[in-house]
Amino acid sequence: MKVHSHVFTIETKKHMDFVDITDAVEKAIRKNHITNGLVTIFSKHTTAAVRINERESGFFDDFAEFAKKVLPCNGYYRHNDLTIRTENLVCSQGATDCLNGHSHCLHLLMGTSESVPVIDGKLALGMWQRIFLIELDAPRKRDVVCQIIGE
Ligand code: ZN
Repeated sequence: MKVHSHVFTIETKKHMDFVDITDAVEKAIRKNHITNGLVTIFSKHTTAAVRINERESGFFDDFAEFAKKVLPCNGYYRHNDLTIRTENLVCSQGATDCLNGHSHCLHLLMGTSESVPVIDGKLALGMWQRIFLIELDAPRKRDVVCQIIGE
């Protein structure tokens, strides 16, 4: 049994950017000669999710619209209310990066990681399944950990 860990740094381009990282994960599996095992793809962030779904731009727009209805970015969030917030105040230096209550709530609903079986050297994904890093906040550099356990 071997364990290999990789960190992919991804520069997202916009809010609700669906970045397809399937090929990078497959490449890591090939590079490490893993035939059977399990790969975990983990976002190191609280406002960028790792999820599996179909790569189709209409669906991406549908989901962005859905998220806007459920968690509008201009709604009231205690996380954004600097008159009551006392913890993790990175925006005290003038940045507004921490005013992202909607992004955190959405991330909690979506999740941080996915696990995919590796069978015969390939990801056991269904025909339409792809692995995405999804930007739920303003675009920036994101780190995704890919850990492969297998032989
Ligand atoms: Zn925040």
